Amino acid sequence: MVPKTKKRKFVFVVGGVLSGVGKGVTSASLGAIMEAKGFSVTAIKVDPYVNVDAGTMNPVEHGEVFVTDDGDETDQDMGNYERFLDADLNSENYMTTGRVYLSVIENERGMKYKGRCVQVVPHIPEEIIGRINNAADKHNADITIIEIGGTIGEYENILFLEAARMMKLKDPDSVAVILVSYLPVPSHIGEMKTKPTQHASRTLNQTGLQADIIVARGPMELDKPRREKLATFCGVPKENCISAPDVPSIYEIPIKMEDQQIGNKVLKALKMRTRKTNLSEWKGFVKKINNSKKEVKIAVVGKYFGTGDFTLADSYISVIEAIKHASWHHNVKPALEWVDSEDFEKSTKKVQNLKKYDGIIVPGGFGTRGVEGIIKAIKFARENKVPYFGLCYGMQLASVEFVRNVLGKKKATTVEMDEKTSEPVIHINPNQAANVKENKYGGTMRLGAYDCALRRDTKSQKAYGTDMISERHRHRYEFNNEYRDAIDKAGLQVVGLNPESDLVEIVELKDHPFFVGVQFHPEFKSRPMRPHPLFRDFIGAVVKKK
Ligand code: GLN
Repeated sequence: MVPKTKKRKFVFVVGGVLSGVGKGVTSASLGAIMEAKGFSVTAIKVDPYVNVDAGTMNPVEHGEVFVTDDGDETDQDMGNYERFLDADLNSENYMTTGRVYLSVIENERGMKYKGRCVQVVPHIPEEIIGRINNAADKHNADITIIEIGGTIGEYENILFLEAARMMKLKDPDSVAVILVSYLPVPSHIGEMKTKPTQHASRTLNQTGLQADIIVARGPMELDKPRREKLATFCGVPKENCISAPDVPSIYEIPIKMEDQQIGNKVLKALKMRTRKTNLSEWKGFVKKINNSKKEVKIAVVGKYFGTGDFTLADSYISVIEAIKHASWHHNVKPALEWVDSEDFEKSTKKVQNLKKYDGIIVPGGFGTRGVEGIIKAIKFARENKVPYFGLCYGMQLASVEFVRNVLGKKKATTVEMDEKTSEPVIHINPNQAANVKENKYGGTMRLGAYDCALRRDTKSQKAYGTDMISERHRHRYEFNNEYRDAIDKAGLQVVGLNPESDLVEIVELKDHPFFVGVQFHPEFKSRPMRPHPLFRDFIGAVVKKK
């Protein structure tokens, strides 16, 4: 831990009116701006639900589970923070109501409160404040941005807002509050309405907090009359109402926000001296995005799910961003299409539809639905020399496909599909099997960063340009080493191995423009201006094919 040598400052970002309007990207963009002013910044995501982490939640309800190096299963906003701050965050950067209560209760069981009565207030907010300070210290941050999920006024947010109030009361100059609110434009009225934000502001006041800045999200710019209304009714200076209309790319947001000097406004609220912002890298990057006009068509093949609060795009946000980063690197624009693998199960002929794509990705997944269709798509990519990139399940199923169709063992499968299969190409180790048997699902997968040694002169090794890498994992099943020599000899080379456990981490086809399967999730480590090497080379092969 870094010794506390400087005064830490904290910015709480809270939401009004409705969630899902971009608090995460606003927080991440503010972080990028503060970094571009030369501050060290870290960010914390608060999820108000009782789950201890995001790992046990259905992706349809929650969106992507973002995995950190230290193996925490967190919210997708953590990915935005990592991408915008270009920093690795860990479990100290994430908390939920469940996690906070669990530690207070464990502390109580361990007599840590020395016989006192343990109460919701102050012990829960104190635990929250301790966690916030811990993250600030661990990252030696000048500025810590804390995003409180959901909207103010929700029951489960009260104690997090109380923590903010307590921090502000103790040291008013160290805490600023940003309200990210939505200003709808009802079609029958055709004008932007401020009233919902006025209500949100008042609800925030009831918690003892006053916004220093309002970020006015909406389909259009905030105009003068409405800016004045917000200022009058929400008690925020006019110039601190930031207009935040929808933009084509989230990577423009730091620039748009800084055009309105949000950085210096936050610094003023924190009683700090203002500073210049150097966003030249971001500006160059956005220019590159806008100049990437030629399209490449990528199919993302998996089982379809599209109901609930979140869509497929939310569930695979890091994969989508990684594809974009890699595409822009090659000055092309990705056109992504979700292809429902169950269609291929109904009609094998439909696999031929994949002809229209320049590349195929099979992302991570769980369960049995759609798996046979995915295997057909992989066979198509292998036989037709279409660039293929398999992520986690996409690597496991590429191995299954190869054993079935090249080695001729038609019964080959993963035990996730058939527990008693005679050809378990993907199997489960005894520890994991015990976890499943005992219903120990939370936080028990193979999680977080593991080393992987690369075989020289392979596509993967050349992509990384090094012999040893570290990548993040989230899976329960593993490649069965009984099949290792056979697939390697037949052309699906085993080119990445974990040096301690000897687990297979990467397979790649020898005679193919690009056919790589990875047991890990490379998408988590792709950064806007530093695309992931394997995504980069996958898109490179896609561009070449086109
Ligand atoms: N279902 C597979 C496993 O648990 C793959 C997981 C994934 O793709 N993240 O091992």
